Amino acid sequence: MSIRCQWPAMKSLLFAGLLPLLIAGAPPGDIIAEADLRAHIAELASDAYQGRAPGTEGQTRTIGYIADQFSKAGLVSAATDRPWFQTVTLVERSVSASSAIFTRDGKPLALDPGQIALRGWQPLQAVRAASVVFFGYGISDALPDPSGAVVLLLRDTPQGSGEIPDFATRRNALLRGGAAAVIGIAGGETAFESLRRGYRRGGTALASAVTPGIDGVMTLEAASALFHSDGIDVAALVEEAGTPDYKGRAIGLEADLSVEMTLRRYDSFNVIGKVEGSAPEKGAVLVTGHWDHLGLCRSEGAADRICNGAVDNASGIALMIEVARKLRFGPQPVRDIYFVATTAEENGLLGARAFVERPAVPLDRIQAVLNVDTVALAPKGTPIAVIGRGGKLDAPIARAAAITGRAIDPDNEADEYLSRQDGAVFAEKGIPAVMLVSAFSDKPRLDAYLSSRYHGPDDELTDTTELGGAAEDATFHVVLARLLADPKEFSR
Ligand SMILES: [Zn+2]
Repeated sequence: MSIRCQWPAMKSLLFAGLLPLLIAGAPPGDIIAEADLRAHIAELASDAYQGRAPGTEGQTRTIGYIADQFSKAGLVSAATDRPWFQTVTLVERSVSASSAIFTRDGKPLALDPGQIALRGWQPLQAVRAASVVFFGYGISDALPDPSGAVVLLLRDTPQGSGEIPDFATRRNALLRGGAAAVIGIAGGETAFESLRRGYRRGGTALASAVTPGIDGVMTLEAASALFHSDGIDVAALVEEAGTPDYKGRAIGLEADLSVEMTLRRYDSFNVIGKVEGSAPEKGAVLVTGHWDHLGLCRSEGAADRICNGAVDNASGIALMIEVARKLRFGPQPVRDIYFVATTAEENGLLGARAFVERPAVPLDRIQAVLNVDTVALAPKGTPIAVIGRGGKLDAPIARAAAITGRAIDPDNEADEYLSRQDGAVFAEKGIPAVMLVSAFSDKPRLDAYLSSRYHGPDDELTDTTELGGAAEDATFHVVLARLLADPKEFSR
């Protein structure tokens, strides 16, 4: 029915002062109820899920629940490995022991072991009598073949060198190119301390990202001692390293390095479903959110060992499931709409990285990504924060805000979290990606959560868990995803 034939009814509503209510509000069929979100959070954040750590029984239960809910919401599987699940092989490592000895003419140099940290990706790795070379930033085409060498590399790039790849990229290229080891030289003492803590803590990576060789970090002081032993002036060396045709420099030392690692390799999974569009060749829209959390996060004997992750991110998965249901049972979209529940976000956005490595839909066909994370904090009526504003999605977001009568938070404060959410992985690939969440527009409320329950055993669902904003955000995602799935409304 058109507005014209409604006019008499509209006029009486107008006189009754009700017109604003009619205009500012999501279509009733798109409205998602708090109770529906609450039910999923109650399940996923219950102790039975053991904090949803990848590679545990909690994982099996979690991905099973999500696949089942996707299926009940009318989605079809869009995973390519097997129904619903994309395998994401992970390797977890920690250093059990390491040693580094540098010798000149057979004589070891005194080096404080506290100023160097090493690690690898094999249980036992050793490098014997390897020559030590300084490669500067490791980007010049004139550098020699690194095969078999222990390469010293500056971690920090010079000011204004926006084009230079980050340290991990430069290091990994050398390790894959045959370097026996790459040791980064930390810019400052604080930088070294935090890097060393990271080495001690260990970590998890995609199996596909595992490199050969040993990687390490040393203080500038330790590196200077090595250079001085060869009569090299460090300041001059760093200066020279910035020249475009830098050839590197042998230091006249031999290195014996060894590391002993504890490793665990296991499979985790992204859960992927879709609402089929009428013309999938016109592209796809992705809604993403991570299912994983920290698992048993306190030592044995603690009163509560389980980090339940009710807000982070059972709430986002709840939103995703309900948004999927609305989109599936509403008018059929033109584009496919994918729902990707990612794993290992807490380990560094690894599930999202695995998705872009082996995407269920070619990346150039993805029109937009809406990531949802940590949605259950703000009450009804809170403006929506946009993480990743300033791109092509601004216009459709504004349109969805007009349709739903939602206010958009005008400042960019929430962009502080831009690189810490799965959307960043898609944005790196040039795909428009945003995270839209009212929980991030109320900074005092967000900070209160981050400094208390966040990543602790108290991130649980309680009677006072606020879901008003989350429900409104869910409805907003229904309206926005539908706009984005329509080529007449949006193309990237
Ligand atoms: Zn988290």
